[in-house]
Amino acid sequence: MGETAPHPVTGVPSTSPATPGADWPGDPADAHTPVARTPTQVRRLAASATDLGELDARVSVCRACPRLVRWREEVATTGRRAAFADEPYWGRPGPSFGDPDADVLLVGLAPAANGTNRTGRMFTGDSSGDFLYAALHRTGFAALPTSVGAGDGQRLTGLRIVAAVRCAPPANKPTGAERASCAPWLERDLALSAPRLRAVLCLGAIGWDALLAAARSLGWDVPRPKPRFGHAADVVLTTTEGRSVRLVGSYHVSPHNTYTKRLTPQMLDDVLLGLRDA
Ligand code: SF4
Repeated sequence: MGETAPHPVTGVPSTSPATPGADWPGDPADAHTPVARTPTQVRRLAASATDLGELDARVSVCRACPRLVRWREEVATTGRRAAFADEPYWGRPGPSFGDPDADVLLVGLAPAANGTNRTGRMFTGDSSGDFLYAALHRTGFAALPTSVGAGDGQRLTGLRIVAAVRCAPPANKPTGAERASCAPWLERDLALSAPRLRAVLCLGAIGWDALLAAARSLGWDVPRPKPRFGHAADVVLTTTEGRSVRLVGSYHVSPHNTYTKRLTPQMLDDVLLGLRDA
């Protein structure tokens, strides 16, 4: 356990990384939440999670990828960015964020070391998140144009954010084995969301591929050949109950894409507004 510092929104003293259930505002886990330490345990604990709250709690304490656990905790303790040196870092996997009754899922790649790994909330605390939440607010999915962290009043309606990989990877590059280890969390998220799901928006090709793999593993009907990722790509998947779910692609909200205007605010707004037509 690291030192204690006041949470930047609530002022509650919190450790870095956050101790499950001890002090971090909005922590979905507690001291009794079972911890996955191997890929086999990830599969077992994901499959047996009975609701999204239980799934989020289990995700948030996962330790199945040694390289990523080391990295996320190193950044949270000795590797904090200077601008955030006085803040506590979440330093754990990112749980989903948003409306538990959402009919739209948004799938990202993985947390950023000084973003979600610091704030504990998906796409929160860096320029990617600033770009995304502004768009979610303009299109009516988010209550506020910014996202800072637990206690800031941000709330999503009709949409929930998940990711292909839940821990911050060095250089933003998870290995194939780490992506495979984390896949059961996404599969279970998809399975628990399926009864009300209308659409899934994937930011980037890795999220797109992860979602297609999750849909296949659940037995959903996925077009063949595999649908190709692209901005505004739009295909229909069919659940085992015969319901149609749209899979929509968008370029990722990474600084590389937004600074170069490969992805503009208007392009993202158009994709988000299009999700309402499903
Ligand atoms: S990346 Fe996923 S499977 Fe690996 S430790 Fe993090 S939450 Fe667990």
